[in-house]
Amino acid sequence: MKHFALAGNPNCGKTTLFNNLTGSTAHVGNWPGVTVEKREGIYKKLKEPVSIVDLPGIYSLSPYSPEEIISRNYLLQDKVDCIINILDVTNLERNLYLTTQLAELDIPLVVALNMSDLLTKNGDIIDVIKLSELLNVKVISISALKGTNLDELMQTAYHESNKIRKGKMLFNSSISELIDELKGLYSKKNIENPLFHAIKMSEEDEIEIRNNEDIYERVVNFKKNFANDNFEGDYASLLADERYRFIEQNAKKFFHRKQTNEKIKMTRSDKIDKILTNRFFGLLIFAVILFFIFHFTFAEDFLYLHAMGLFGDGLNVWPDVPIVGGVIGSGNGINSLGVMLQTLMINTTDWITSVVRSGLESLDGQSWVTGFICDGVLGGLFAVLSFVPQILLLFLFFSILEDTGYMARVAFILDRLFRKFGLSGRAFMPMIMGFGCSVPAIINTRTLADDNERTATIRVIPFFSCGAKLPILTAVSGAIVTTFGIGNADLITFGMYILGMVSAIVAVILMRNTTMRGPVPMFIMELPSYHVPQIKSLMIHLWDKLKHFMKKAFTIILVSTIIIWAMSHFSFSWQYLSDEEINNSILAGIGMLFQPLFTPLGWGSQLGAWGWVFCVGAVTGLIAKENVIATFSSLAACITAGFVGTEEGILEVEQMILATNIAIPGLISFIAFNMLTIPCFAAVATAKAELPKNKFKTTILFWLVFSYIVSMMIYLIGSYWWTLFIFLALIALMAFAIHYINMRLDKKRLANESN
Ligand code: GDP
Ligand code: MG
Repeated sequence: MKHFALAGNPNCGKTTLFNNLTGSTAHVGNWPGVTVEKREGIYKKLKEPVSIVDLPGIYSLSPYSPEEIISRNYLLQDKVDCIINILDVTNLERNLYLTTQLAELDIPLVVALNMSDLLTKNGDIIDVIKLSELLNVKVISISALKGTNLDELMQTAYHESNKIRKGKMLFNSSISELIDELKGLYSKKNIENPLFHAIKMSEEDEIEIRNNEDIYERVVNFKKNFANDNFEGDYASLLADERYRFIEQNAKKFFHRKQTNEKIKMTRSDKIDKILTNRFFGLLIFAVILFFIFHFTFAEDFLYLHAMGLFGDGLNVWPDVPIVGGVIGSGNGINSLGVMLQTLMINTTDWITSVVRSGLESLDGQSWVTGFICDGVLGGLFAVLSFVPQILLLFLFFSILEDTGYMARVAFILDRLFRKFGLSGRAFMPMIMGFGCSVPAIINTRTLADDNERTATIRVIPFFSCGAKLPILTAVSGAIVTTFGIGNADLITFGMYILGMVSAIVAVILMRNTTMRGPVPMFIMELPSYHVPQIKSLMIHLWDKLKHFMKKAFTIILVSTIIIWAMSHFSFSWQYLSDEEINNSILAGIGMLFQPLFTPLGWGSQLGAWGWVFCVGAVTGLIAKENVIATFSSLAACITAGFVGTEEGILEVEQMILATNIAIPGLISFIAFNMLTIPCFAAVATAKAELPKNKFKTTILFWLVFSYIVSMMIYLIGSYWWTLFIFLALIALMAFAIHYINMRLDKKRLANESN
């Protein structure tokens, strides 16, 4: 099969094109560095199927970043039949820099001018024929997003791939004599792509020198003779200048810019950026946006009408109508969109459960069968499914922020802040991805070159609460509101997200000053231009997320709930137990064993006979975080005889609260523990694969200890306010000790260096 590679600058639309050609659903985001791994798919509309490889975005073929190394190695080592070089036409000159390098490879090349839809809007014109003559390759205008001209692009690429192409230097260089000579040496050694290697060697490229030391001698000799007063002999920047000059001098020939439009556009987005990336307002705006997102997703009294004493119970819309009852509001004012969708989902699953239950009962089935199916399996499963609408909505909002280009601005603002803590803004990208799921987020840390920064980032990614942790947050905070009659569920949820982020910052400061010390790498990122988010790509995103979630629900979570049911209905001597005897079950036995461990966190031995349910919830969460609420739902019917829940988890948690008398600090500590501790199985496995050597065990330990301490502080301060001062004193002491030790270490190092 033929292999076509998609190569281009970051954010020029490679993944969008890849998805469009292969029908994949790879992550597309409006910022550089989303794709960190090459990805393969199949394009089927040609005579024969061809494989398409989406490469990470690169600015050049010099091995400066992990992305550049991956892309360069792929192009040089694997058999690529044609390179499709994608250019962002709204940034044409800069994008062409890479093209001048790709042209030097002996690989068929086709240039795709992407985002041509934006160009027509601007009124700029590119003379495709002139450009094609200049580059000496075929050039096709496309729009990856709208799917324009893609067939033509692929046909051209296919046609070119059947030809033999020799690398060509597009510009005139003042050291072409050296390059020619080196090329001859490479050809003699039978090395492929001699021109490319010759140019890289004359640039004194590290990898090149390492591989061909004999040829490098020639460069050293040449330099001696080429000595010149106003030239320091840095051929890499000499060639870079020559490349840029070539592009600049020729731009007029093929690029007819409509000046005025461009200027207006520039200043407008500059003006917006001035506010959005302002030191102070930037953060404030981000916080406000986050608040509104959470409000839209979780608030019951969405417009605060109920809180203001308006409407009140009058808004209890169709309370008794099945399925739609209570969707718009249920006596607490008007629901937000997220709550409406969730209520619809819960009503539906409730209805299914009730039909199944009455069906089973009328069949005169045994009561354990009904309990197993309705309370055990369906209860657990539906508790998880009921959160799908809110998870998807939250995910949609984040995707919109990403797609418009706003998230890249946030990374920019946070870089200034993060730098003080010992991370670069680059580390913030994977963290934002963590709001969706830790697994891709952890993989995305590959863009971080420094091992210590990378380890620190991977460790705090789970603190950015992922979709699966959402049920814990909303169910427990919802139950706090209904049981104790205080606060707002959406505010508590929002607060927990903030707690996660603050914990991440604190943990990073701690690590970067102790075990993970090291310089903060530079962070250079161009701000991507603002885009109108595209419905199509948003929907692909959502669909992908939904599929992932459903798959998980019907595999891991389903199996877990069945195991939990079995463990809670059998004793250690394998005797079947009725609901009332659950305290003799295997599950209770194991839970009770661990219960004392969590006493300092507020949900251990002090909760009495039923206290073990919280321990069990936390432990099942290690497999998948959805299990926490699924477990509660399966157990609720056993705790309260005759209890029939609505599968939103809130009523179920309420049962737990009533049975155990747990107080609010204990509940908050429970959420915090689940949010900060060892993440789910999939995330742990990914972390193991991605962490530098020897860092895995300490990472697990870090998660355990950190979550334990934070939860304990929450519980103790919440229960005995004066403990706050003890903790403050301890923190101050620790900070001082760390500072002192670091000072000593630095002094020692300096002394060693000067010796
Ligand atoms: P990559 O980093 O090169 O993989 O770029 P992505 O595929 O992630 O796309 C970056 C951004 O450009 C996303 O916001 C896309 O929606 C947007 N984009 C990609 N192709 C087009 C296009 O043809 N037209 C427009 N208007 N936007 C595009
Ligand atoms: Mg990409």
